[in-house]
Amino acid sequence: MNDRLSSIIADIALEMAHISDRGTVANYIAPLAAVPDSRFGIAVIELDGTCHVAGDADTPFSIQSISKVFGLTLALGMVGDALWKRVGREPSGSAFNSIVQLEAEQGIPRNPFINAGAIVVSDILLGRHQPGETIGEILRFVRGLAGDESIMIDEEVAHAEQETGFRNMALAQYMRAFGNIHHSVERTLGVYFHQCALALSCRQLALAGRYLMCGGINPETGRTIVSRQRARRINAVMMTCGHYDGSGEFAYRVGLPGKSGVGGGILAVAPGIASIVVWSPGLNARGNSQLGTLALERLVQRTGWSVFDPAEML
Ligand code: GLN
Repeated sequence: MNDRLSSIIADIALEMAHISDRGTVANYIAPLAAVPDSRFGIAVIELDGTCHVAGDADTPFSIQSISKVFGLTLALGMVGDALWKRVGREPSGSAFNSIVQLEAEQGIPRNPFINAGAIVVSDILLGRHQPGETIGEILRFVRGLAGDESIMIDEEVAHAEQETGFRNMALAQYMRAFGNIHHSVERTLGVYFHQCALALSCRQLALAGRYLMCGGINPETGRTIVSRQRARRINAVMMTCGHYDGSGEFAYRVGLPGKSGVGGGILAVAPGIASIVVWSPGLNARGNSQLGTLALERLVQRTGWSVFDPAEML
């Protein structure tokens, strides 16, 4: 598979360079609007550690909501299943930043991958710590997963969101009114915005995602990050909720657990086979990377990878 996979990935990168309808780069976070939509990167890390890359795979980008996977993993480690009393695990069928369900559902967000849910997760992570300590812990966690101490948080992006994140402030205030945010909104959002501002390349992010393809174990260190069952469950929530109101479409077209971010990245997991990251900043109407989704669709068509096709996953 090795050589074939390298040429599949190179072909996909080449094909993506020729597509003119590239979606729309997010502009509500100023520094993101400055990223050219011509960018495209892909990294695939196989179970044996072989890494295949093409395009801008070593350019760091703002991982935004993909960070919600790491936030959830850490928070489950802190409070275990008690987390699910404050956040649901059902698809929302609404936009990532929607407030509409919160009133009817008493301030309990549908899932940890929409903004409201991830803000509650940030509030849990804050625990009894100072925001700076929690942000440091998230950064250390992601660096440890990727085995790369050079990974940074882009302060300019975090600051821009702090200045203009009015919707997120509204979500947090509204949930606080229901008693589901325990710290001040400023402190909780400080953690949330910094987590979203993590900057990783496709290669670094695919390295960080390996534990989800390996039953919860970091294959490089042999360290258990989460139990096998927990890894399976995080993958399940990624499959059902990782692309907001586009999650059904992503499952249909790609058939792998995946998490997108408005920076244009997608982390996808082929359990037991590969950790995959694509990046193209232009988004579709649901806020998911347009070419990133297409690239993954072509990758699974050519490799046969799908959790819905047992013959191919064995
Ligand atoms: N930081 C972004 C926000 O809160 C994350 C959204 C996303 O990536 N979908 O709006």
